[in-house]
Amino acid sequence: MAPTTGSHACQTRSASTIKQAIMNPSSRPGSSPVSGKAAVDSTAAGSGIGADQAAASACAWQPSIAAAGPGPRRPSRAVDIAGVRVGGCAPVVVQSMTNTDTADIAGSARQVAELWRAGSELVRLTVNTAQAAAAVPRIRERLDMMGVSVPLVGDFHYNGHQLLSAEPACARALAKYRINPGNVGFGHKRDHQFATIIELAIEHGKAVRIGANWGSLDQALAARLMDENAASAQPREAAAVLRDALIRSALESAQRAEALGLARERIVLSCKVSGVQELIAVYRDLAARSDHALHLGLTEAGMGSKGVVASAAALAVLMQEGIGDTIRISLTPRPGQSRSDEVVVAQELLQTLGLRSFTPMVTACPGCGRTTSSFFQELAEQVTGHVRQKMPEWKLRHPGVENLSLAVMGCVVNGPGESRHADIGISLPGTGEAPAAPVFIDGKKAMTLRGENIAGEFLQVIDQYIAQRYR
Ligand code: SF4
Repeated sequence: MAPTTGSHACQTRSASTIKQAIMNPSSRPGSSPVSGKAAVDSTAAGSGIGADQAAASACAWQPSIAAAGPGPRRPSRAVDIAGVRVGGCAPVVVQSMTNTDTADIAGSARQVAELWRAGSELVRLTVNTAQAAAAVPRIRERLDMMGVSVPLVGDFHYNGHQLLSAEPACARALAKYRINPGNVGFGHKRDHQFATIIELAIEHGKAVRIGANWGSLDQALAARLMDENAASAQPREAAAVLRDALIRSALESAQRAEALGLARERIVLSCKVSGVQELIAVYRDLAARSDHALHLGLTEAGMGSKGVVASAAALAVLMQEGIGDTIRISLTPRPGQSRSDEVVVAQELLQTLGLRSFTPMVTACPGCGRTTSSFFQELAEQVTGHVRQKMPEWKLRHPGVENLSLAVMGCVVNGPGESRHADIGISLPGTGEAPAAPVFIDGKKAMTLRGENIAGEFLQVIDQYIAQRYR
């Protein structure tokens, strides 16, 4: 399934401009050109003011009034992954990964289908054993029979060269191979094993993601760079050297792949770390040093709200700066939690940033002491659930419906105003207000709902509006 929408065309912001922004932090809003501690020390000295106040007065924040919306996208090479375009300023693509045993053909096919139905445009599977490699073409067949067209990506570590060589059907069934330069091979075997995978990708016409990872950093490269740094006249901080090692691991592997004959238009890069600020720093640097398509993700983001918040914080900053062509939200599911939640979070992140539209957005107030019952919360939940449940059908029958905006508000304070900003909004009665719920359509009050079936009638209003507007 190819991405269908995207609002931000590629605009040239050269690598040197991005790099300048990194090297000169004072050019970024909210950043200080002054070394934090030095500024605090010099300001506080002799003044009698506390360190916090000194830090505050040392801030060099300047107001910045800019148009709302993400910045121009970083230009990158377009990579075609079995019909899904990544990079080249195509809409940012949503990816996910199964957590089934790939050798379990039925279970893996079922989960891939679930992820695809949730909106995943590429799905990655672990390919770690001969059984898993043998299962991949059979998973592909099952998916094709189910009408699930999502391209599959094989995740290889250590033995990818053997598995892809031994199972040509697996090599053909996958649309992309993901390899990690930190564990594609060690010592003298490394170059041969890497070359084997690249040659198979060329032979089968497949794309490759070269995905470096903080947790499996190329140790030989890291050691070499640390030694060079120690011997230099102005050594950098170790963290900066290791970030550089991660980036160079990806870039040097990409150069090697290109030297072997793999076109740059078949290569996607990623450099994943688990810290938000580290990830932002790494990708700003990587983006400035290459024009490869980039896959973004905060690795090992964690569970629940922590994983969602950390991923959103890191990826939002980067995508706001135009960096990133495809994303994955690496959530640790709670026992029993749907794997598809990571797809929902990725879509909501892209939609709230204004980069893509997937499903009508429901604005709801948080509620407060002015709402006396849970009815308002229940209605917000019902509307959100109705939208998610109907979306597969709406998507086929009502193109453009993903841009619809809905509002469910708890009382008269902000209710009518927020409802008027939405395509359809309802303002429920708060404490002491008349038991009536005005409904606003296209900014005008259209009706007032009363009685026991406000929720059902409001859902009908939504359905009728969609049927009329998105034909
Ligand atoms: S709209 Fe009303 S109920 Fe909702 S948060 Fe504001 S004051 Fe509270």
